[in-house]
This record gives sequence, C-alpha cells and structure tokens, in this order.
Amino acid sequence: MEYKVKDKNGKVRWEINEELAKERGLKQTDLFDLGECYRTKESIEQTIKSIVSFPSRNDRTRFNSIIQKLLEAWRENEFVMQEIWKFGRNKDFHREYTIPGCKCPKLDNEDLYGTSNRMYSGACPVHGGGL
Ligand SMILES: [Zn+2]
Repeated sequence: MEYKVKDKNGKVRWEINEELAKERGLKQTDLFDLGECYRTKESIEQTIKSIVSFPSRNDRTRFNSIIQKLLEAWRENEFVMQEIWKFGRNKDFHREYTIPGCKCPKLDNEDLYGTSNRMYSGACPVHGGGL
C-alpha cells in the first residue's frame, strides 16, 4: 500500500492517513483514486485562484458562471473523496472556505464544520457572487 501521493509533477505532496485508511478498509485502488482527487482538487483550486487574483478580473460578475462551475466541480470532487472513504456524500463536511481566494470567515466556518450552516461574505470573490 502506498500512502504517499504525488502531484502532477511527480513530487510527493500529500500523505493519506494510513490509520484511517486501514480502519475504513481502503484498497490500493482507492488510494490511487484518492491521489487523483487530490490532484484534481489542486487543479481546480489553482484555476479559481488565478481567476480571482488577476487584477483585470476584479469585475467578478463577468466570471460568475465560470467560478460557479469550478465550485460545482470542487464540490463533486469532495463528494467522490467521501465515497472513496466510504462516508456518505455530505457537504456539511466540506471545507469550501479553504479554497484559495475565499474571503469568507474562516474561524466561524471552522466552528460550523459538520453542520449545514456556513457564513459567507458578500466580499468573497469565490462566494460573493451568489452560490
Ligand atoms: Zn468564500
């Protein structure tokens, strides 16, 4: 079993929780799939980051539909990971506020983690344009 996960450049970047993986009965193929999810997550987050941080893209409304689709892809990727871990699909356990560029209140949302409530900021370039 290989618990280390490489990024798209072949560098070891992440490590899957071995203890939890054993507890959940994950197989090597599950670990490969999780690695794919990690790389997908990074790729989506980098794309969101580049869109919201580019100065000429301050007019968020122009990019609302792109960011909305990237957010949907991000959420679906989180659901896939939950399924691989054999947890149910549950957005209450997503940490969307960790997406680079998100300006929603981090500490409040960390407190709300595991509940269906979240706090969003209208000034957030990721979430501010409407969810
Ligand atoms: Zn946000």
